[in-house]
Amino acid sequence: MTFLRISGAVLAALVATGPALAEHHKSYGYGADNSPEKWGQLDAKYALCESGDMQSPIDLAGANAIGKVALSVNYQAGPLTVSNKGLTIQADFAPGSAMTSGGTTFNLIQIHFHTPSEHAISGKRYPLTGHFVHATEGGKLGVLGVMFEEGAANPELAKILAAAPTEKSERATISGQIIDPNGMLPADRAVYRYMGSLTTPPCSEGVNWHVLKEPITASADQIEAFEELMGDSARPVRALNNRLVVAPE
Ligand SMILES: [Zn+2]
Repeated sequence: MTFLRISGAVLAALVATGPALAEHHKSYGYGADNSPEKWGQLDAKYALCESGDMQSPIDLAGANAIGKVALSVNYQAGPLTVSNKGLTIQADFAPGSAMTSGGTTFNLIQIHFHTPSEHAISGKRYPLTGHFVHATEGGKLGVLGVMFEEGAANPELAKILAAAPTEKSERATISGQIIDPNGMLPADRAVYRYMGSLTTPPCSEGVNWHVLKEPITASADQIEAFEELMGDSARPVRALNNRLVVAPE
């Protein structure tokens, strides 16, 4: 996932010193010289990518418990705002949509995508995944992952693709276009649940991961369009390291 929480003061400092930072900053990616294996060495702030022991993604077939996670979503349709972040395409959401898991409410902030999926099941990866990124009022992160398999086109993905800027760093709010996050969820809300991390630098831990077991469909053309926009954008799976991973019943 690609969400980084920074305070207004930090943001102001970044803006003020932007050009200098840019010169010294090595950007992460999925290519030969900045691949996930090297993230921990690109920047001191990314050390956890290498040293962390609660990292994501994982192979969910490693689940060591079975249970029903009390998960509910209350998502509202809203204006479509899409950004091309280079490594991902992201749709941002206004306040008002939330996921409740185990009694904790996480507010939906954005949905972004990876090709192929980052989480695997017995080594199998789906061609596309969406990460619904949420945070509690106190700043705890919760992500809901949805897998896309090839099949019928998804109407909400169609809106995102039609609006997605082709140039990196561009952001577009599409006048009059409404996106409904509910249209990117399967009927069955059974999830795998475990504690993990951001799957991109700084690889921060403490992320409440939920991955829906039931995939939904995207057309071959939609999957190909995301691949063209983002390229290979999946971090290899990480070791479980004695974590509790709950599979749905
Ligand atoms: Zn992600």
